[in-house]
Amino acid sequence: MIQANDPALRSWVEVPADSDFPIQNLPYGIFKTDYLEAGAGIAIGNFILDLTYLHENGFLDGLGLPAGVFNQLYLNDFIGLGKDVTSQVRQRTSELLRDDHDELRDNKPARELALIPMDEAEMLMPVNVPNYTDFYSSIEHATNVGTMFRDPDNALLPNWRHIPVGYHGRASSIIPSGVDIKRPQGQTKSPEAEAPTFGPSKRLDFELEMAFITGKQNGLGNAITTSEAEDYIFGFVLFNDWSARDIQVWEYVPLGPFLAKNFASSISPWVVTLEALEPFRVQGPEQNPPVLPYLQYQGKKNFDIQLQVFVQPGGGEENLVCTSNFKYMYWNMNQQLAHHTVNGCNVQVGDMYASGTISGPTPGSYGSMLELAWKGTKPLQLSDGSQRKFIEDGDTVIMRGFAEKDHTRIGFGEVRTKILPSGS
Ligand code: CA
Repeated sequence: MIQANDPALRSWVEVPADSDFPIQNLPYGIFKTDYLEAGAGIAIGNFILDLTYLHENGFLDGLGLPAGVFNQLYLNDFIGLGKDVTSQVRQRTSELLRDDHDELRDNKPARELALIPMDEAEMLMPVNVPNYTDFYSSIEHATNVGTMFRDPDNALLPNWRHIPVGYHGRASSIIPSGVDIKRPQGQTKSPEAEAPTFGPSKRLDFELEMAFITGKQNGLGNAITTSEAEDYIFGFVLFNDWSARDIQVWEYVPLGPFLAKNFASSISPWVVTLEALEPFRVQGPEQNPPVLPYLQYQGKKNFDIQLQVFVQPGGGEENLVCTSNFKYMYWNMNQQLAHHTVNGCNVQVGDMYASGTISGPTPGSYGSMLELAWKGTKPLQLSDGSQRKFIEDGDTVIMRGFAEKDHTRIGFGEVRTKILPSGS
């Protein structure tokens, strides 16, 4: 059988050279148009392959798909069918799109109905998110934050190298790319002030993260081991964990982030599958001291995914402010999921598990404004002559990500969010 991520594969659908969505990628999303209600699709070049159409017209027969599984607001029911089924859909759609396969290629009426130009579609949330967890798994990020707010000589707290630290976030405010958000308001208190005041956050920040989505449940009381974890991981999105630093610093002791984080988190709308990312596995960093047995793992569990953040002032051009990579993560997803469930916590289909801010080793690779402008002491210079310590009203923050090898680019598209003034 020809593997769907074989770099030699080509599609009869035109795929521009710099496209995030060649035939080797085939990410899933939920889209709608003026003439089609919401449903599932696969990105190919500048088109969306309409899975509802393919299913209803017999192109996906024999794969164990229930009627109506794609004609839905979310992918949950589809990914909940399990990898036996979703892998076959990936394999079958790859076949239908291959340049040497004539079934759809030479069926002009079907081809024209099955392919929707992306510029005619609006991308929606890909999954209904029952639960959202945010980890804190970049050693560079945790070290930077510890250096700024605590002690440069003891930047990491004593538990950090032993536990993939995380907290439970807010699922209801996870939104797709393209949805504007209003600057959050809240309580803040500067160290010099005697009492807190209320108003718009003055330190609005992004956090460059990736999130994995689970496609299988374990059931309450059943731990997932590091070797079982990938059976539960369906795919990945880019994740911007919006953060109001001034609200955070006043509220977070003793129980952690609350209103500083729960107003919005933005994601890219295409879910790139674990299968599509197989060629990009790399060894993770050495973990020292050694971790407890339930966190030990075998094999390559990090992924070489290049990440970029751009800040675009209102009416201005994009400024690249950060270049990082998912491969820098100290704790990998297998360890995160094993730790999350070791006490018997149950994961559900559609859950999102974000990595934590992905900072690299150099200043240009830091994944938040807090670190890039080093707590406001090193403002970033933008091309329009303005400076940024944090994100301002009218700014658009854009995150992009892609893995690239053998002239094959497995991309995530982008997550793009504009900041509107408070109360607008
Ligand atoms: Ca975060």
